[in-house]
Amino acid sequence: MRYSIPMTQAFHERPLTRRHFLTGCALAAAGCTLGRADPAAAPAATPLHEALFYEKTGGLGVRCGLCPRGCVIPPGRHGFCRARENRGGTLYTLVYGRPIALNVDPIEKKPFFHVHPGARAFSLATVGCNFICAFCQNYDISQAAPGDVAAPLRTPAEIAQSARESGCGLLAFTYTEPTVYYEYMADCARAARDLGLGSVMVSNGFISAPALAALAPLLTAVKIDLKSFSDSFYRETCGGRLQPVLDTLKRLTAGGTWTEVVTLLIPTLNDNDDEIKRLAAWMARELGPQVPLHFSRFSPLYRLRNLPPTPYATLQKARALAMKEGCQFVYIGNAPGLGGEATACPACGKVVIERLGNRVEANRLKEGHCPDCGKKVPGLWS
Ligand code: SF4
Repeated sequence: MRYSIPMTQAFHERPLTRRHFLTGCALAAAGCTLGRADPAAAPAATPLHEALFYEKTGGLGVRCGLCPRGCVIPPGRHGFCRARENRGGTLYTLVYGRPIALNVDPIEKKPFFHVHPGARAFSLATVGCNFICAFCQNYDISQAAPGDVAAPLRTPAEIAQSARESGCGLLAFTYTEPTVYYEYMADCARAARDLGLGSVMVSNGFISAPALAALAPLLTAVKIDLKSFSDSFYRETCGGRLQPVLDTLKRLTAGGTWTEVVTLLIPTLNDNDDEIKRLAAWMARELGPQVPLHFSRFSPLYRLRNLPPTPYATLQKARALAMKEGCQFVYIGNAPGLGGEATACPACGKVVIERLGNRVEANRLKEGHCPDCGKKVPGLWS
């Protein structure tokens, strides 16, 4: 099977972080090389799981087609995300069945504001990401390699069962980038579906078209981080590209998957009026005015500790600009009480869902309709 891979980046192009430099020094001292397969280091009980979406490139090399990075991986090496490794000409996922985080969260925390308000989501992640965002909130796990973090084996059936026993109606693939644990995510979603549970993905949207097409039917909803509307921001601050993310958003909405968008507003980097207006206008035009847009407040961390938190005025202005560009549901996140958390009826303007932070304070919807004017409010409400 062949795939269209718009961007190719070899495994060795990932910038080395200080932590991985130090890890590499330690491994070198122990006779190992960072990024090279060390079969002896693999946990003996880890069942290897062959990856989906790759092709052989001749000899024992492979090209991964899971995300637009399209890593070309020689034998004995892993891809940019570190989660997939070529062993003897076969690409394996190293994170299948190895969650490093399991939590019960409110669905509003993801955030989804138009998906089963107040629902509990059984949230999980493995290590790994195909981006290297300088502002990542979870860099300690997203930028970790398999083996860096304790990860006891949990089968998809066990995950689904734990979710049900926790009173959760949904699984949420979140915290790191679910695309890099695609095979595990898909099998967990299938196991959840078998128990009558749904699944949501919280993603950077950097996923290839064939992989998304196969995954979307398994998902109830998807939240995409649209980190900026500038390709240079994506390249310089995230190690990614903008256009593949826009393509993912268009594919999701065209395919009928409920989609919400989050943009973290970072002072001086992506918070200028023109960029916000262009982002919102594109969303309203290409995705439709009903797609919720969440502007989230930045806090200084990881490699952007030099920047201040997003001013409240910037968030409020961004919300006003986006609504003026035609987005009907624009929210403010990480700023409880600022006034950007309620859902208003798009026809009469009355508040139909009140929230404070991640908590639903009141839900006045009547079977998805405004109780005052009867207008249907877009979302998954039942
Ligand atoms: S999923 Fe990982 S290995 Fe595959 S192309 Fe993307 S970064 Fe490379």
